[in-house]
Amino acid sequence: MLYIGSHVGFNKNTQLLGSAKEALKYKANTFMFYTGAPQNTARSQIVDELTLEALQLLKENNIDYSKVIVHAPYIINLCNEEKFSFSVDFLTEELERVNQLGIKYLVLHPGSHVGLGIEKGIDNIVKGINMAFQNLGKTNNVTILLETMAGKGTEVGSNLDEIKKIIEGIEDKDHIGVCLDTCHLNDAGYDLNKFDEYLNEFDKTIGISKIGCIHINDSKNERSSHKDRHENIGYGTIPFDTLISIIYNERLKDIPRILETPYVDKLYAPYKQEIEMIRNKKFDDNLLDKIRIDNK
Ligand code: FE
Ligand code: FE
Ligand code: ZN
Repeated sequence: MLYIGSHVGFNKNTQLLGSAKEALKYKANTFMFYTGAPQNTARSQIVDELTLEALQLLKENNIDYSKVIVHAPYIINLCNEEKFSFSVDFLTEELERVNQLGIKYLVLHPGSHVGLGIEKGIDNIVKGINMAFQNLGKTNNVTILLETMAGKGTEVGSNLDEIKKIIEGIEDKDHIGVCLDTCHLNDAGYDLNKFDEYLNEFDKTIGISKIGCIHINDSKNERSSHKDRHENIGYGTIPFDTLISIIYNERLKDIPRILETPYVDKLYAPYKQEIEMIRNKKFDDNLLDKIRIDNK
């Protein structure tokens, strides 16, 4: 079964119920959200009544809640020593919120080493994740998925070796995994036309069973650009058919696919139309105009 959805909102008044309703609007069967604005620390208390109402709605629509994903905010940077204790505390609180929501996966950007060097960066990430897990103790049911990065600036995690080293350092191996991102893989230098070769390499170094989520994005930039600028599906540098073959890759079946493509004209969510196009497996070069018209 294809699990496909997108990034959706989450606000303090409607919380998971609002996110679930947004996903249903897109005819998605999974979704991903931030528990608050990704660039700040303002977070509201999780209201269990809203969670229960959302669970009921998802059940009525045959949506498997175990496929729903939370994305940790970018302000967490475990590499950066000046921000280290802040980042560990915030990651701990985020894990608590995700546990309270009953969600299984938290996507985390490994971090940027800001000049400390890759090795020190990796050490700090390992230390920080281990500390956050220790803070939660046995109450934790959430798996952290390290996202594969584009290698922008001093980002750690743009190749398999770095991801592997982080995983090796994590004490609680049952709660660590990986989230692939097609835009980031392209920008990091991987040829997505040879995705099966990438999966072979992944399986050899890390193990394919560690993949818990895939972000499906086209890229505005050429392979190896290290830019990380997402584009709508079929409108960027990754061939549409290549993205389709990744989405439908049998080796990754049952793993949620999440779109993080940009809003059209910064105004209109493209996800309903993109999901429909993906289900049709046929590129529509008028899709963005259709989205504009649908929203008028
Ligand atoms: Fe991300
Ligand atoms: Fe991503
Ligand atoms: Zn990105």
